[in-house]
Amino acid sequence: MAASEFKCTVRNFEQLTPSVFALAFETDRPLEFRGGQFISVVVPAGAASGGRDLRRAYSIASAPEQRPIELCVKFIEEGPGSGYLATLRPGDVFRGFAPYGDFVYQTPSLRNACFIATGTGIAPFRSMVLSREYLDSPPAQAWCFLGVRTQNELLYVRELSGVKGLTFFPSITQASKDWQGFRGRVTEYFRSLDGEFPWGETDFYLCGNGPMITEMKELLLERGVDKKSIHQEIYYR
Ligand SMILES: Cc1cc2nc3c(=O)[nH]c(=O)nc-3n(C[C@H](O)[C@H](O)[C@H](O)COP(=O)(O)OP(=O)(O)OC[C@H]3O[C@@H](n4cnc5c(N)ncnc54)[C@H](O)[C@@H]3O)c2cc1C
Repeated sequence: MAASEFKCTVRNFEQLTPSVFALAFETDRPLEFRGGQFISVVVPAGAASGGRDLRRAYSIASAPEQRPIELCVKFIEEGPGSGYLATLRPGDVFRGFAPYGDFVYQTPSLRNACFIATGTGIAPFRSMVLSREYLDSPPAQAWCFLGVRTQNELLYVRELSGVKGLTFFPSITQASKDWQGFRGRVTEYFRSLDGEFPWGETDFYLCGNGPMITEMKELLLERGVDKKSIHQEIYYR
């Protein structure tokens, strides 16, 4: 489906963590998309720092079948895009072009899927694993890794832990003493694994900050994973 312009009416605003909020909206006509695709939001000149409209990309965080549609946005100090979205409340209207992107779920059901995210990079994975397409034809095994700095930055833990057949691994770099899960970066977790992981039978989906994706890709190629089995969406470098 080719991307076109939509008028989006905000239905809900919810703070998910101290710095990440969810924005739910409805479009002026049906918006069809696949799990993992994104919307290019128009940040109007008045709201942005410069004198002209800007565009910012946001992965759709909700399943293609769910309405209202949801985004999951990290508030960036003095960031025009995230700052603009953070001002919107129910009833407000913003413009966006969608759907964009080829970062979509494409694992045949005989193979495994491994989703690896940092921060709001979890958004496209939430959309994929809650989609009808995924639930009707799930992978043989599935793992989802989310790397954040502190426990209060974790997103969608309960929901993703409840997806049938999916094992959810939050990993925290600056964990407090009571944290029982993995401590460190997701890349460190994978470095500690050797032959025990089914590298060759798994499709890897990487999303979030550029350095994590670069490091993770190098590691996967070292482990013999075929380039065609690695899919990525870089949010920023
Ligand atoms: C395909 C795609 C999908 C994206 N989806 C999402 C999404 O679902 N949720 C989301 O919050 N962002 C997402 N982003 C990032 C988003 O497009 C903006 O870059 C981000 O909101 C910052 O824009 P800004 O105008 O507020 O700040 P800017 O002034 O443009 O950016 C300031 C700095 O913030 C940092 N930054 C950017 N994005 C993030 C982030 N997500 N987490 C931490 N630091 C960041 C970078 O270092 C950047 O240089 C996506 C980017 C791409 C390319």
